[in-house]
Amino acid sequence: MGGHFVVAGGGQAAVQAIDTARRAGFDGRITLIGDEPFLPYQRPPLSKKYLAGEIERERLSLKPESFYPSRDVEVLTGIRVVELGLGRRTVETDDGRSLAYDRLLLATGGRPRRIDVPGAELDGVHYLRSIADVDSLAPRLGPGARLVIVGAGYIGLEVAAVAAVRGVHVTVLEAAERVMARVVCPETAALFAARHAAAGVDVRCGATVTAFRGAERIGAVETADGDLVTCDVALVAIGIVPNVELATQAGLDCTNGILVDGFARTAAEGVSAAGDCTRHRHPIVGAEIRLESVHNALEQGKAAGFDAAADPRAFEDVPWFWSDQYELKLQIAGVALDYDSVVVRGDGAEQGFAAYYLAGGHVIAVDAVNRPRDFLAAKKLVARHARVPRELLADADADLSAYGV
Ligand SMILES: Cc1cc2nc3c(=O)[nH]c(=O)nc-3n(C[C@H](O)[C@H](O)[C@H](O)COP(=O)(O)OP(=O)(O)OC[C@H]3O[C@@H](n4cnc5c(N)ncnc54)[C@H](O)[C@@H]3O)c2cc1C
Repeated sequence: MGGHFVVAGGGQAAVQAIDTARRAGFDGRITLIGDEPFLPYQRPPLSKKYLAGEIERERLSLKPESFYPSRDVEVLTGIRVVELGLGRRTVETDDGRSLAYDRLLLATGGRPRRIDVPGAELDGVHYLRSIADVDSLAPRLGPGARLVIVGAGYIGLEVAAVAAVRGVHVTVLEAAERVMARVVCPETAALFAARHAAAGVDVRCGATVTAFRGAERIGAVETADGDLVTCDVALVAIGIVPNVELATQAGLDCTNGILVDGFARTAAEGVSAAGDCTRHRHPIVGAEIRLESVHNALEQGKAAGFDAAADPRAFEDVPWFWSDQYELKLQIAGVALDYDSVVVRGDGAEQGFAAYYLAGGHVIAVDAVNRPRDFLAAKKLVARHARVPRELLADADADLSAYGV
């Protein structure tokens, strides 16, 4: 299978797609176009070990530099795709190139959602998505610094943990009634909120930010109920917006992500999309969702790669995700959508913790904290929509793997 495979975007999904395409026998030309100045890299360590200064930038690379020439992949870094010509089968770049494609993959990811309040442009207000973002934030997190984090999602809380360990005074302002409200149940949220409190992080839920105050640099953050939290630096971590503009301009369906099928195909002939920029009807979740996870980027990237090599294989794995905060390793299998009850096992300390989400008695998701075996068993349970007696789920010593095999 040959032709020209052009990949717009240079992240996790992009690299997986080209790797899979080559392994599956695609022997045409491949061009990867990424607008960042680096070779494709992993983002999860950005808010964990890279921010903590525990790993070097080079360790973030998804593949060694030699991977690209060895697979005959032309990589254009620091170059942005600015327009698609679906009829002509071309992409236009911001340095004036026009590349003709036979297959096109949109793997453009997402960008941080900006906060729209007075003072948002002050020096010292940061976002976190890229290496460049961490390189500008990290030097401001010395011991004794005062950091306000807007948003208690994964990224906000991971940064809170790294900063607190470094001796930074951290306040987290979250508009919802609990941390990680979009993704976990109250029981899991309470466990994490308690751990942050124990580390000295001031987590305030129900706190909506209305302004950043300061002359040129930020000096305080104001909330709707009139609180003023003084600080030297702020991080806004209120989610991402999928990068769908190219696809939207080209007329594709892009409501909350570029719509793709199980083979990562869009409605346009020869055009796939993968990763954070997509939404799809997930066969196991049973709903149309947009996932922001490494696992999803890998699965969809693989599907797009196989499809480019004319060996189509649908992705249909149970979604999963992880987050590291202090010594707590959270692993989530499935998606906790429309659950009607939660069963908790473990004490959150020596026994670890797991929260099983049930819908009509079927296991649809789990949050496992320092219980990797529960996580692995739950992936199988979720794949099978298994029914497991509640007493068994609640018993920290019970082995659940038999229910999934
Ligand atoms: C700080 C942080 C921590 C995370 N932690 C975890 C975690 O613990 N576990 C987990 O599962 N997931 C985590 N994630 C999410 C995970 O990293 C993403 O889901 C994954 O990177 C998505 O890959 P992607 O290829 O879709 O997009 P990206 O990795 O965002 O790559 C897209 C690339 O395309 C570029 N691009 C965009 N538009 C264009 C254009 N027009 N032309 C050229 N290039 C373009 C972008 O600049 C970017 O470099 C984390 C994300 C962040 C930011």
